[in-house]
Amino acid sequence: LQTEMTHLERLNLVGQMAAGIAHEIRNPLTTVRGYLQLMGSKREFQSLEPTFKLMIDELDRANMIISDYLALAKKSDSERCYQNINEILHRLYPLLEADTYAQNKKIVFAPGPTRDILLNTEEISQLVLNLCRNGIEAMGAGGTITLRTYCEDNHVVFSVQDEGSGIQAEYMDRLGTPFFTTKENGTGLGLSICYSIVERHGATIDIHSTPRGTTFFVRFPIPNGTYILLNQEGTINVR
Ligand code: ADP
Ligand code: MG
Repeated sequence: LQTEMTHLERLNLVGQMAAGIAHEIRNPLTTVRGYLQLMGSKREFQSLEPTFKLMIDELDRANMIISDYLALAKKSDSERCYQNINEILHRLYPLLEADTYAQNKKIVFAPGPTRDILLNTEEISQLVLNLCRNGIEAMGAGGTITLRTYCEDNHVVFSVQDEGSGIQAEYMDRLGTPFFTTKENGTGLGLSICYSIVERHGATIDIHSTPRGTTFFVRFPIPNGTYILLNQEGTINVR
């Protein structure tokens, strides 16, 4: 009888518990946010504009924390299909750009030639977002996030480089441990989610960090040999 839960199962359980209450918390947050926005736009509250902005930002932060917890729950429809990571990144790019520019930072996307591999679109988007968010948060004023993709040693590699002040050596071993955070307002869940997504894809994460910046490398193995795909129309694809 297996009574011990694996690391992934435990995280999944936390996510499921979050899912149970997320709705009940999000609905009132949405209502309050809506009214704050409405009131904040009225002339009689003009002098309180910074206060309204603060209140809305705080509600958004609470909402983001709920999202982090929800992402821990493994989706039952975690289906993967053969696709190019560059396409996922292109689709995500406007959102990433808006996020970085909102923090007065820059983002560069340098896609290289890659191969189609088995990817779950939603999970890979989450992985990219979490790594970029950490990169943005690691940089003080300004700075650039650089996203790269390329093939190397039979792997598709995706990397996120930031110009932050790096990760201290004593923290390295704890990265990805649920709830480990060095931030005042962090949940310490972002990297745990990344590691579980990477694990489900049979990929690995390597981290290169110096006091001038950090790069996260995600390596997806390219399956060997030829494989035959039957799509819904019954067409045969040989890769
Ligand atoms: P959170 O962002 O909520 O703190 P994460 O799991 O995303 O949680 O990250 C855990 C910790 O790892 C962060 O608090 C930070 O100390 C460290 N970290 C992650 N990414 C970076 C990065 N790009 N640069 C510097 N430190 C990082
Ligand atoms: Mg984070």
